[in-house]
Amino acid sequence: MSLILFNDLTRKKEAFVPIQEGQVRFYSCGPTVYDYFHIGNARPFIVFDVLRRWLEHEGYKVTFVQNFTDIDDKMIHRAHKENITVKELAERFIAEYNKDADALGIRRPDVAPRATEHIPEIIKTIEKIIANGHAYVSEGDVYFDIKSWPRYGSLCKQNLEDLEEGARIEPGEKKKDPLDFALWKAEKPGEPSWESPWGKGRPGWHIECSAMSSKYLGENIDIHSGGVDLMFPHHENEAAQSEAASNSGKPFVNYWLHNGFLLIDNEKMSKSLGNFLTARAAIEKFPPLALRFFMLSAHYRSPVNFTPEGLEQAAAGVARLRNCRSDLNFAAQTRKNNNSEFDLQKFLSELDELDKKFSASMNDDFNTAAAMGILFDVVHLINTTLKENEKLPEGFFQASKDALESYDKILGVIGPEESASDNSEVSEIESLIAERTAARKSKNFARSDEIRNILKARGIILEDTPQGTKWKKELV
Ligand SMILES: [Zn+2]
Repeated sequence: MSLILFNDLTRKKEAFVPIQEGQVRFYSCGPTVYDYFHIGNARPFIVFDVLRRWLEHEGYKVTFVQNFTDIDDKMIHRAHKENITVKELAERFIAEYNKDADALGIRRPDVAPRATEHIPEIIKTIEKIIANGHAYVSEGDVYFDIKSWPRYGSLCKQNLEDLEEGARIEPGEKKKDPLDFALWKAEKPGEPSWESPWGKGRPGWHIECSAMSSKYLGENIDIHSGGVDLMFPHHENEAAQSEAASNSGKPFVNYWLHNGFLLIDNEKMSKSLGNFLTARAAIEKFPPLALRFFMLSAHYRSPVNFTPEGLEQAAAGVARLRNCRSDLNFAAQTRKNNNSEFDLQKFLSELDELDKKFSASMNDDFNTAAAMGILFDVVHLINTTLKENEKLPEGFFQASKDALESYDKILGVIGPEESASDNSEVSEIESLIAERTAARKSKNFARSDEIRNILKARGIILEDTPQGTKWKKELV
């Protein structure tokens, strides 16, 4: 079964056919780096990271571009407030973005272009739009001419009349129509500016994505993603600009994907409601793996409701996955026996069935919620097998380990193994456990209890089994 995606351009599920066989040109709108990114923005970063991984898993060569908006009103305002330059502000919050994104297991894009490093490309794009008759210059500003673009509104599915109703010309704007939007803004005192054919100024927000996506991915790209709040006006404007600049008749984007809103306790997140949560604050409160698990346990297009209970459930889910892997590792050391009567072929074919279901879920409009359900079916199968069979062959352990590893490569919700993360810590823990076992043998229960408490304080939980002492780390 091949990949089917819900395309917001047609509002239908469609088979995914790439422009070039075996390749995917993928653009996702990145953060405006004036502050830490909030938990609502963490959602597209996480879900589209998983879509990228899935496309790679399916054998596509993916070029994933995600920009940094490092110049706009919010950037200028914040830099003034902090008494630093816009560039210094951008450097600081690009580093903070990378820190939080890394913690959440979001892979870095292949290209992460910054608007201010692409001023010549932006100017060139604007020049093309003017030359093609779809933009005009007005006292140093350049505006997109909506009336010259009959397709305007085709992505958000609204006609011009309805859109005009909500639009206004703000003081200081020198445009003809309230819906016209700025491609270039004339310099204002105290703001960063660049030379241009229309005088000194700076780019509008929307044009940077058009200029940078065409530079790195070409005029016609496969997938463009972002939050549903970006559909209008940002993506509508991007499409109008890019298609007006290329004038090729080809669509800017073949598949538009938008993730649903994230609510906090059933309310829209806003600074005025006081429920604004940055990803940084969330990471300090909840394990990053649980945050990732939470985002993937809903379909990307559905709204999700962020609650402490939901996050606790997600943390319990992550713990269950990690426990399955550590139980498996422990059993591999103590219960491996190739002469066991275990029916390996049956197990492998059950695993294979589940794998087919996993693929079918991911290929059905990238349904991570269903795919996560299948991952738990795999865990259930492994746990039951471990429980019901005293001795198990090498093939069982290898196949189980491979399955967990390959799902985690796509979803990233199990995380690294303790032993891989810190070998010296592991050997220290194991030597304490060995000392405790010796203490128990010599009936020195005081020392045995003491060691258990030392380990407990470090988040290590011990379980004494007939095969020896098992340990696991509490999720932090
Ligand atoms: Zn964008």
